[in-house]
Amino acid sequence: MNYDYIVVGHGLAGAILAYTLRKQGHLVLVIDEPKENSASRVAAGLVNPVAGKRFAKSWLVDSLLPFADTFYDELEARFQQPLFFHKPIYKIFSTIEEQNNWMAKSAGDSWSEYIGATYTQSTGTPSVQDPYGGILIQQGGYLLVSDMLDLLTHELLEAGLLLPERFDITQLQLTEQGVSYKAATANHLIFCEGWQAVHNPYFKWLPLQPTKGEVLEVQTTGKFEPECIYNKAVYVVPVGEDRFKIGATYNWRQPDEEPTPEGKAELTERFEQITTQPYHVKNHWAGIRPAVRDRRPLIGRHPEHAQLSVFNGMGSKGVLMAPYLADLFAKALAEEAEMLPDVQISRYYSLYYDYIKHHNPEL
Ligand SMILES: Cc1cc2nc3c(=O)[nH]c(=O)nc-3n(C[C@H](O)[C@H](O)[C@H](O)COP(=O)(O)OP(=O)(O)OC[C@H]3O[C@@H](n4cnc5c(N)ncnc54)[C@H](O)[C@@H]3O)c2cc1C
Repeated sequence: MNYDYIVVGHGLAGAILAYTLRKQGHLVLVIDEPKENSASRVAAGLVNPVAGKRFAKSWLVDSLLPFADTFYDELEARFQQPLFFHKPIYKIFSTIEEQNNWMAKSAGDSWSEYIGATYTQSTGTPSVQDPYGGILIQQGGYLLVSDMLDLLTHELLEAGLLLPERFDITQLQLTEQGVSYKAATANHLIFCEGWQAVHNPYFKWLPLQPTKGEVLEVQTTGKFEPECIYNKAVYVVPVGEDRFKIGATYNWRQPDEEPTPEGKAELTERFEQITTQPYHVKNHWAGIRPAVRDRRPLIGRHPEHAQLSVFNGMGSKGVLMAPYLADLFAKALAEEAEMLPDVQISRYYSLYYDYIKHHNPEL
């Protein structure tokens, strides 16, 4: 069977890209080894238009956010199921210095649409600890990533367009027309393997920094149903019925997928700094983010094999970035648009040539 595209990996990146390519009229085969603790499956699914520590507008947010909103609305309508929940984010100040810094920065005009209110003292919400006040960030929210993946997976399976198995790279052949893989041929193949791209012989030279993250799900014993997501060192995302997702930790030194007692202790301690609500831990997950040295995604064609591409490196902001970048990339592949230079892997082609020289010194 001949396809326009083969997409390897059906996490957030691959799923959104495959859906976008199909919407643009292409025939797509997806190959994905289902994985319960993929980054996408454990993610809290948060969208925050303001980048936390630096208190800067998130990169390209004025383009990414409206596009993501429309994209998730469309999926909700298609599947008749709520997937994205709009919620303001209450960023709690830790110190009076932080309050001063943030107040000074937020005075700029470009902020206004994202800042709902500023508080220089506690809002007085019962059980919430915010002695220095905080900032209410508008236009945030969270996506039920696993639910979205389940729906898109089901749709592909029904259409006979998903092979739920590990992609065996030894079966891939590069041909004049594109690629062949087992019984399938395609004009182009796109790897969306998340952090596992570090094992991909065609793309292992890319500067991925697999970064472990741990997340908890807790249940409060008292009634606690805030209208916002809380943020102070961690995010506290209300997911309904007094349940909360608390995340996340960052660890690039030991990027395995095991939940640890240290991760749990860090998250519970930070949760307790936000609220005095009694609670118990229901679930604890760990996953690995496909982070990148310069914090920009990795998108584009292989420097020598033009029939191979990657769509990866969404770091900790896949929910916000993937819809817009998938649309742009699908158009770029069809030569209808230019990819943004910031995300193109061509910015790292020199690493590829160094890699090749090192592995094939005679070249
Ligand atoms: C703890 C944690 C919390 C996070 N919270 C947020 C958040 O709140 N908001 C946000 O936007 N982002 C968050 N992220 C980041 C987000 O999860 C990632 O940006 C995004 O999920 C990356 O998606 P991906 O598809 O690139 O990778 P993955 O989710 O890793 O998906 C890759 C898929 O490809 C498959 N695959 C890989 N190799 C092969 C192969 N050879 N053959 C077949 N299949 C293969 C895998 O099995 C998997 O299904 C978080 C991440 C973590 C770990």
